[in-house]
Amino acid sequence: MMNIGFIGLGMMGYPMAHLLTQGGHALRVMDLNAATTSRFVAEHEGASAAAALQDFGDAQVLITMLPDSNAVESVVLGKEGMQGLDGILRPGTAIIDMSSSEPVRSRRLAGLLAGRGFRYLDAPVSGGVKRAVAGTLAIMVGGDAQVLADMEPVLNLLGKCTHVGAAGAGHAMKALNNYVSAAGLVATVEALHAGQAFGLDPNVMVSVLNASTGKNNTTENKASQFMLSGAYNSGFSLALMAKDLGIAMGLGKSVGQPMPLGDEVLQIWRDASEALGPSADHTEMYRYAPPKT
Ligand code: NAD
Repeated sequence: MMNIGFIGLGMMGYPMAHLLTQGGHALRVMDLNAATTSRFVAEHEGASAAAALQDFGDAQVLITMLPDSNAVESVVLGKEGMQGLDGILRPGTAIIDMSSSEPVRSRRLAGLLAGRGFRYLDAPVSGGVKRAVAGTLAIMVGGDAQVLADMEPVLNLLGKCTHVGAAGAGHAMKALNNYVSAAGLVATVEALHAGQAFGLDPNVMVSVLNASTGKNNTTENKASQFMLSGAYNSGFSLALMAKDLGIAMGLGKSVGQPMPLGDEVLQIWRDASEALGPSADHTEMYRYAPPKT
């Protein structure tokens, strides 16, 4: 049993923190949304709420599941004169960032934390809310192999780990995964719209794609379930997907690798995000109609 601090009880963090309590760990939780924190504590015996970052002082492991690097750095390093976790946690504590953060910033953060005696892993996830609930996420881990070996009993409660390299490598892998996923989603949506305009039935199209070489994660797990059904409630926001694509394209630029298709795909997601607003689910790309030429 470990004392685990967990920050960020959103669509992903809430079910992940739940599984950690099921695994017998003592959780101290925090979210900007105080009502969410209270609900978690009410639903989980043995879990307690952190009213301030200072309340994480006795954590052996500190997990962040926040929107982006800005949010992660604000709690780990502090902001606007407020002390961060780096001044609160005991040296030796493992800080695991499971958010989809920016790899270059994560590498820098890992270096800063190592200098202050902390252990660090970036361990972003793939699989969406459904697999977060089931504890079957794909977890891509950057950082020291020994730290991962120490933390695997905790992370294995959430899914399956693959060690992909040094600090920051997990976040690089995650951004590139989401580029491939987002490109496949846009291709699927465009094909469904063009097919419908020609007179094809989109439900039949999805069945045929899934029996053919066009099959991808969107045709298998999103098109019927969240798009054609009109549900648009996958639990992953369009704004977060646009953020991930921005990270992937930034990564390409930082290593001098052109990604011309990715630049186009990023623009489509940014335009959709602006048109549909911050609360849109990413599957609403299906109802986002780019202007016909
Ligand atoms: P979310 O917006 O549902 O949850 C984020 C939570 O963090 C919110 O509850 C918010 O109140 C809280 N928060 C923000 N800033 C905070 C701060 N400074 N201190 C405390 N709490 C703060 O997002 P999500 O869908 O759970 O995604 C979390 C991360 O996981 C993101 O990086 C996202 O890209 C990634 N991700 C999401 C999915 C998905 O399907 N939703 C899948 C894989 C990865």
